[in-house]
Amino acid sequence: MVRKRGTYQIKILDKQLICVFCQNDEFQHREVYMDLSPLGETVTEQLTLQSFSCTSCGDIRMFEEKNRFDHTLQKHVSIIEYMEVIKE
Ligand SMILES: [Zn+2]
Repeated sequence: MVRKRGTYQIKILDKQLICVFCQNDEFQHREVYMDLSPLGETVTEQLTLQSFSCTSCGDIRMFEEKNRFDHTLQKHVSIIEYMEVIKE
């Protein structure tokens, strides 16, 4: 399990992630691995999910990290952007 330390504001496909329960926009991150085993058979694939828990109410949202082509940067970038929140 990988965890980025600290608190983040998250953008997914250029859209700010906002907690649906408390409208907070700060989250803590961890990475979650999930085995896919359709029909209860052997594990065929492992899914990596980025999990974000709201720092205010603790609600957890999970997203699969994918890449998209950014025409401005002319390269593939993740759909998820992390902006660390620096607390004074
Ligand atoms: Zn919340």
